[in-house]
Amino acid sequence: MNFDFDDKQRKEILNTVLDKVEHFYANTKDYSTTPKLNLQEIRNLVETPDLISGNKPNEAIEHIINGLENYSVHTPHPNYFGLFNPRANFAGIIADFITASYNPQLAAWSHAPFAVEVEAHVIREFIEKFGLDKKKSDGVFTTGGAEANLTAVLCALNNKYPNFAKNGMFGLDKKPIIFCSQEAHHSVQKAAKVVGLGYDFVKTIHTNKDLKIDTFLLEKEIKKLNASTQSPLMVIGTAGTTGTGTIDDLESISKICKTHDIWFHVDAAYGGAAVLSSKLKQLLSGIPVSDSITFDAHKWMSVPMGTSIFLTSHQEILNKTFRITTEYMPKEASEMKIIEPFSHSIQWSRRFIGLKVYLSLLFYGWDGYEKVINHQAKMGEYLRLKLTENNWIIKNNTELPVVCFTDQQFESDLNFTKTILNKILTRGNSWLSVYPIENVPTFRACITNYNTTETEIDELIEELNKERETYQS
Ligand SMILES: *Cc1c(COP(=O)(O)O)cnc(C)c1O
Repeated sequence: MNFDFDDKQRKEILNTVLDKVEHFYANTKDYSTTPKLNLQEIRNLVETPDLISGNKPNEAIEHIINGLENYSVHTPHPNYFGLFNPRANFAGIIADFITASYNPQLAAWSHAPFAVEVEAHVIREFIEKFGLDKKKSDGVFTTGGAEANLTAVLCALNNKYPNFAKNGMFGLDKKPIIFCSQEAHHSVQKAAKVVGLGYDFVKTIHTNKDLKIDTFLLEKEIKKLNASTQSPLMVIGTAGTTGTGTIDDLESISKICKTHDIWFHVDAAYGGAAVLSSKLKQLLSGIPVSDSITFDAHKWMSVPMGTSIFLTSHQEILNKTFRITTEYMPKEASEMKIIEPFSHSIQWSRRFIGLKVYLSLLFYGWDGYEKVINHQAKMGEYLRLKLTENNWIIKNNTELPVVCFTDQQFESDLNFTKTILNKILTRGNSWLSVYPIENVPTFRACITNYNTTETEIDELIEELNKERETYQS
């Protein structure tokens, strides 16, 4: 068995893949946004091919492409107004292919010095973009925002409790409390569970009428802690909430954190990309004085999934949190001014995550990104304008292209959004979701695709209007 195949066969396989993928990439709009969710049909399809003696490569590829094309929500579709999943940009796709082919091991610098230095360079670029102090900051690529938020909790614990790495929770005299808003991402609760704290130690604070964390309540809750048994660990501000794209008042949170000596983490998984636009970056004022930041490049920066960044303004904290020394670990770091990735994250074997961002910057530049970010923000404004013109009422207030809306007349009809959503998703021309704001279900439409234009927005509005009319009659 030749796992490599010969060069003629390899070209044939590559050509098949290229033809299929190119067809999808060039004609994404012709596909249905929504898959059929027939479990038995899907299981049968997955289980059909022979796994004992193997299959013809071209048939295997056709099998997979057929499965993905028929049974996925097509997040790269320009009429996908969905969650923060982008159309993967071309540079990012190529980067993943190259990464898989060379398979560099980024655990240790000496194994993949070019790749490690690329990631370090990109991290330094983001430190600058977010306005952190270059001389005092550090960062690492993570697999996603969930890992970055977990990293933030671990860093906050190791910063506050110098013996945490050695004694863990058993060494603490008081219970550490994490604060965030009720609109924060659930990965915060998960991080609390994973570090051994438990989600009861996450205090969620109510939001104000703008859906931002109520900073008055936040400070009140901090002061209310029982000083002999509890201690505030960190406050997590969200820059672009998952539900409504709202940016918390980061400056006020940072002041509260300073006053009470608390770690200030900004979960900018989605909204962090605003720093790439000179028009939008002032929305994130307050972020430069944070202790740490989560930023997902696989959201608004449109690289394929598995690409997030954790930044911190405490240069030593990642090392303190993750460094382990064993005999088989390389010792180069002590002699050279380099960073060993294994000393900076939960991971050991490490994929070249950062190439997707680096190659995107090589292809498009920061200038290219500024243009597409501004375009998407403008499409968000266009969507708001069109909704208002068509008598939909908008329920959230953000400069980011996330719009939550409903109809005045049917606002209290709990079936309204659900019924219409089902019809739209069944038709498969557009994809959007429903998000409850203060128990009122609203439609949630987000511009997550750099190819979405006025045309796709008009198509969405037309569908919504039509469904509203039939719902009435
Ligand atoms: C998406 C998101 C996360 C989780 O990030 P993943 O990359 O999906 O793990 C965390 N916080 C916010 C605000 C998000 O929108």
